[in-house]
Amino acid sequence: MTGDNKDRLGNKLHDVEAAREDQWARQRDSDLIEKMRERLSKTACPHCKQFLVAKTEAGVAMHVCPAGHGAWLEAAALKALLKEHK
Ligand SMILES: [Zn+2]
Repeated sequence: MTGDNKDRLGNKLHDVEAAREDQWARQRDSDLIEKMRERLSKTACPHCKQFLVAKTEAGVAMHVCPAGHGAWLEAAALKALLKEHK
């Protein structure tokens, strides 16, 4: 095997490794989002202590205070929203 071939093989292995990590990161993200949803459904509004209610507004999942004090958005959802309105 020449040095060149060895490098190519190395690159290919690197690609496979990167793809695997990518998939792992996505899985981890969806796990985190799922956990956050669970936690948020038991989170109380800091103003009135009522539990936040899950809601989807314009395709964005969020938790809102039933008395209208505010809304909690997941960071990823907020980022996507801000990007859309740029
Ligand atoms: Zn409230």
